[in-house]
Amino acid sequence: MTGRGWRSGPGGSGGPGGRCGLMLLAPLRVEAEALRRGLRRLPDGGESVHLVRTGYGPARSAVAATGIGESGCGMVAVAGVAGGLADDIRVGDVVVASEVADAGISDAERRRCPSAPLLAGELRRAGLRVHVGPVATVHKLIETSAHADLGAAGVIAVDMESAPLLAGAGERPAVVVRAISDTPAHPLVSPHTVSGGIAALKSLRLAAPVLARWAAAVGNRQVLLASPRSFCAGVERAIEIVELALERYGSPIYVRKQIVHNTSVVASLEQRGAIFVDELDDVPDGAKVVFSAHGVSPEVRQEAMRRGLDTVDATCPLVAKVHAEARRFAGDGYLVALIGHGGHEEVEGTLGEAPGSTALIETVDDVANMRPADPSKVAYLMQTTLAADEAAGMVDAILDRFPAAKGPGSDDICYATTNRQRAVRAIAAESDLVLVAGSANSSNSLRLVETAQRAGTSAYLVDSAEDIELGWLAGTRTVGVAAGASAPPAMVGQIIDALSGLGQVESREVVVATESVQFGLPRELKGPREQHLGGEWGRAERGEAQ
Ligand code: SF4
Repeated sequence: MTGRGWRSGPGGSGGPGGRCGLMLLAPLRVEAEALRRGLRRLPDGGESVHLVRTGYGPARSAVAATGIGESGCGMVAVAGVAGGLADDIRVGDVVVASEVADAGISDAERRRCPSAPLLAGELRRAGLRVHVGPVATVHKLIETSAHADLGAAGVIAVDMESAPLLAGAGERPAVVVRAISDTPAHPLVSPHTVSGGIAALKSLRLAAPVLARWAAAVGNRQVLLASPRSFCAGVERAIEIVELALERYGSPIYVRKQIVHNTSVVASLEQRGAIFVDELDDVPDGAKVVFSAHGVSPEVRQEAMRRGLDTVDATCPLVAKVHAEARRFAGDGYLVALIGHGGHEEVEGTLGEAPGSTALIETVDDVANMRPADPSKVAYLMQTTLAADEAAGMVDAILDRFPAAKGPGSDDICYATTNRQRAVRAIAAESDLVLVAGSANSSNSLRLVETAQRAGTSAYLVDSAEDIELGWLAGTRTVGVAAGASAPPAMVGQIIDALSGLGQVESREVVVATESVQFGLPRELKGPREQHLGGEWGRAERGEAQ
């Protein structure tokens, strides 16, 4: 097919027309050799990968690309060295192309590589420094000014082959991995040329087995979308409170603890001027501070009042309801068994309502340790985000020991938690794998993972598409996707997009409930914008949870 011919990997399936899985395209001999060495680490010694040297530059690549269609290979990876353009890219780093364009052709179509986050995450777990972003194919070794122009346009690396090779891949799943041999700080022709090349080839060698894992995950899939999923009314309200506060009062707005337990939500609000702190000690006098959706104890409110801080309370009304129940039971002389997870902010806040009259129940065994002054005056409450089936076991234990124990007036486990658990159970029943979008400190998201696992399905929590391990996907045909109440809807879109880079995705919603719950804003943030410009924030002294 080219002057160099088709070069298969060790025991590879040979030239055009052969049936194979991954076609791994390496422009240069040294690149192919580095990849070949890396592939030898695979259990099959790289037998399953069809490694092809395609030749240097766009013209040879265009010729080589014509053979991809005839090869019978179902997926394509382009791998080689490249020049880095972004400031934070160093020699030896690896770039995974989110999209590739031919810089030598005006108005060239960009080829997206949607599975780039999946591959990037796997390469990071293999110990490489990885960047994801646009890659441009240039037609000659470009000059510094051209580098700068492409860098300014957002391109993070340049090579001379990827665009024409990907064009030959057609609709096949395809990825581009480039190891960086030079950067503006370490130009191609410099005393660093050899060391840069060696570093890049070492990274390529390490990347080769990861590309084989990517290939093993390729396949068409059905995606079952749990519904409801993602933001609940309490989370939407809490985020809106911080956004409104920033809009009306300007930065900085302090937020005690994460407003909701999600890293991307917190990062987005930080970019807009919110400052997240662990305790009020970190809030300067006179500053404005928002209490998070998980609620705070009276002690925190009192501290804010003592300091004269301007506060807005973003406590979810359904968390505030549990606080009110704790106060009521404790006031009536009951020992309150609070079923929940110690250390969680919501539980800390609720415990703080009546610390001398509340016993934390984390396991059935904790029930045996309860010492009520009057066994007929025991009540139980729950963290709002518990797994319903798990909590039921602890309620049974409490009722076994204290048959007269009183429960909350209405369920403490909130509607959003309940609905999301029902939805994840429904998709788990039909899925080979369940992915739950959410952060590691999100209680309700973790409970969704456990709920799916209890249903007998492999399930994992992922904070981004990069967290999805390729090994989880290998062999799966139906993937369930759910999202915790604090996970942005966009996260689900990112997961589906990433899966679509591995093959065709057919999505289906599995709806177990529809939600229309909405909560009003705190008084301080209601009404037209001009009412708030005088700084009329809620003073801590009226900071009762709603
Ligand atoms: S999960 Fe439930 S309790 Fe927590 S913020 Fe959402 S609606 Fe409120």
